[in-house]
Amino acid sequence: PSLPQRIVIVGAGHAGGAVAAQLRQSGFAGAITLIGEEPVVPYQRPPLSKAWLAGTSSLDHVILRPEDWYNDNDVDLRLGTCVARIDRTARAVILGDGEAIGYDALVIATGARPRVLGLPGEGLTGVLSLRNLADAEALKTAMIPGKTIVLIGAGYIGLEVAASARKAGLKAIIVEREARSAARVASATMSQFLERYHRDHEVEFIFNAAAKGFAGTEAVTAVELADGRVLACDLVLVGAGVVPNDALAREAGLECGNGIIVDAEARTSDPAIFAIGDVSFRPLELYNTQFRLESVPNALEQARCVAHVLTSTSPHAPEVPWFWSDQYDLKIQLAGLPLDATSQLVRGDPATGKFAVFHLQGNRVRSVEAVNAPPEFMFGRKLIAAGTPVDLERLADISVSMKQVAI
Ligand code: FAD
Repeated sequence: PSLPQRIVIVGAGHAGGAVAAQLRQSGFAGAITLIGEEPVVPYQRPPLSKAWLAGTSSLDHVILRPEDWYNDNDVDLRLGTCVARIDRTARAVILGDGEAIGYDALVIATGARPRVLGLPGEGLTGVLSLRNLADAEALKTAMIPGKTIVLIGAGYIGLEVAASARKAGLKAIIVEREARSAARVASATMSQFLERYHRDHEVEFIFNAAAKGFAGTEAVTAVELADGRVLACDLVLVGAGVVPNDALAREAGLECGNGIIVDAEARTSDPAIFAIGDVSFRPLELYNTQFRLESVPNALEQARCVAHVLTSTSPHAPEVPWFWSDQYDLKIQLAGLPLDATSQLVRGDPATGKFAVFHLQGNRVRSVEAVNAPPEFMFGRKLIAAGTPVDLERLADISVSMKQVAI
């Protein structure tokens, strides 16, 4: 098939911004239109729960590329613009005002949005969620020292914002439905470590507890729990996971599951349409499964992949998924997924604040959670990719370097 001349990208976030840049880097000389709902050039979201709240970051720090880059590279950037519909027959996207923009290839990079709990009082002032710059500004402004914030959900967003809130001098209470923190993504060892670390920083945890509603007349004044407890507060952050923005794809009849279903080349059920980033439900060859990853490395990997496919340049080798989180002085790095692991091995002592949990299948590493342990993360990732067996005794022995373990 002939290569596309007109590429339209819907969603000017991390994945959308990256694919525009990758296309030019790969030598694509045709038309690129990048359409984003937000009024800002593509930026990184990870700082929003970290440096942004601490006031040590600014717009210049978080944007992927300066605004001039888009002009200089002939990318037609349409900000503050929402795509309302995809017309697959006409091969065009339709904007809110009815304008149609034709494409030869379309990339959907619409990301995900915070899950709404649907509880009474969720619309009160001070009940916030965190996905974009506007959310982060609102949260930062409301984080006044001495006030109390309740975080609904002890996932990575809740934990990171709790750490930022403590640093800013707020009282922080985390309400979690499960029995431990980050239960969906972390091992019990990691959960316990995180809980202890946050408790040492005077974060309060309430586990096995569900929020039932929010009290207040205009502004929130309390969170009501299903068991009758009432937590007085000034501010709430709902961090209960995200849902993929796949409505455009569903309405256009593309195959969707937990997000838009794509193949290893990020192609949807329509060969002219690709989907990348948080919105895509993609194959993970390494684990012989399909997954919806929510991470910057995934957005970048899929952006590179699509650019290569659309320009017919060098093939793409699948990467080991990875993720990071910063809380207080902790550098948390995760590689791989523990989907098919049958045992765990802890290297180092969590009490020292430097350790790694290896998830194993027999004597092969399938995933690693590293805390302040970059070599464990780095070599762990290599071991996962290579699939080579390791000597578990040596892996457990911190006197043997990770480099030696990986030989
Ligand atoms: P997004 O970056 O969300 O971009 C999607 C864009 O599409 C948005 O701008 C949206 O407004 C726009 N859009 C949606 N629908 C339409 C439409 N119809 N028309 C036009 N535009 C539309 N990942 C990590 O790896 N490490 C971290 O430490 C980390 N921390 C995070 C902290 C926070 C607070 C958040 C929110 C996320 C964090 N992530 C982290 C996740 C990471 O930011 C996402 O995985 C990444 O942004 C995904 O990129 P994306 O382009 O798929 O989606």
